[in-house]
Amino acid sequence: MPQKPVENFDKDSVLAWLIENSPAELDRLWQKADDVRCQCVGDDVWLRGLIEVSNNCARSCAYCGISLVAPRPKIYLMDKAEIMDSAKKALEYGYGTVVLQAGEDPRITGPWMADIVSCIKRETGLAITLSLGERSDEELKMWREAGADRYLLRFETSDEKLYRQIHPDLGGPSNRIAQLERMRGMGYEIGTGIMIGLPGQTWKSLANDIWLFRKYGIDMVGVGPFLESPGTPLAGELSKALRASAGDSQVPSDDLTALKVIALTRLLCPDTNIPATTALATIDPTGGRVHGLQRGANVVMPNVTPAEYRSLYQTYPGKAGTNETADVSRHKIESQILSLGRTIGKGPGTSLKYLQQH
Ligand code: SAH
Repeated sequence: MPQKPVENFDKDSVLAWLIENSPAELDRLWQKADDVRCQCVGDDVWLRGLIEVSNNCARSCAYCGISLVAPRPKIYLMDKAEIMDSAKKALEYGYGTVVLQAGEDPRITGPWMADIVSCIKRETGLAITLSLGERSDEELKMWREAGADRYLLRFETSDEKLYRQIHPDLGGPSNRIAQLERMRGMGYEIGTGIMIGLPGQTWKSLANDIWLFRKYGIDMVGVGPFLESPGTPLAGELSKALRASAGDSQVPSDDLTALKVIALTRLLCPDTNIPATTALATIDPTGGRVHGLQRGANVVMPNVTPAEYRSLYQTYPGKAGTNETADVSRHKIESQILSLGRTIGKGPGTSLKYLQQH
């Protein structure tokens, strides 16, 4: 039998690799993904300091532990001084980027965030990534002009029917791909991603997700296993119904599948920035992050959110790093990177794809 290609992919070979379980075959995939990572983006691992600005959200996503319909013991919004302190910590730690992430909190207005973005830029010079959900063009432009460099917005799944069942509209219809395209036009570096093993997600739709990362020329791709969040609709009856509808084609939410998605994404999008995500480190606390870095990933996002807020930003339970200080997360992650013989990137770590086009 001919071997499955590890280059010059078509969509069918993505699907074939996703369902491959032979250790010898998978070793070929891991090796190729690591080779391509080394050739195309090198040995540097870029560190992005994550600041979880608010756990308040107006949207009722069925999967998310900070959604309007999730049981949240306490709602918080960091103030400007706290955000600035966290950004300065990221600078002090040598991280080249801060990522400001939050629920769709109505208190995060255009001018409020623009002021914070310009202040971070002025006082730290760091690259700034925003991950604030679905926002108006007016807000997105204002933040770009204030100094935001990148925007992360996962499309979560390319299965439109499933997406509509787990991700409700708010104000207008939700179209994350369209927002990504508009943000590209505004000059943002654009990041997207998916959850792996969502109830109702089939192997075929997962193959299509990976295919779309390439089709849309995404600069950053973050993927991680879906982890059930207690009290959310996807931890209850809806999940059972969706799993039943996928039947034997249901994708598992495990580390092996997540690593296959990372490796295949690296092969299809060789110069894209790919994080070894916190969800991967959560599902496999000892090996998740390291395996991600060995199988295609070149970014890690250490948490710099103040300890008092971390436990309240539980998009899923048991999130890796929740009970650590920023300093402990930093040392753990840096020693994991160095133990692999890799180096810590210095500077903003802009995607090579983006640099070539600008
Ligand atoms: N409000 C922002 C940030 C959401 S949190 C936005 O919607 O873009 C960032 C990511 O966490 C989400 O895009 C989703 O992919 C992931 N996430 C949310 N709930 C999750 C869960 N239960 N398991 C795994 N990942 C989850």
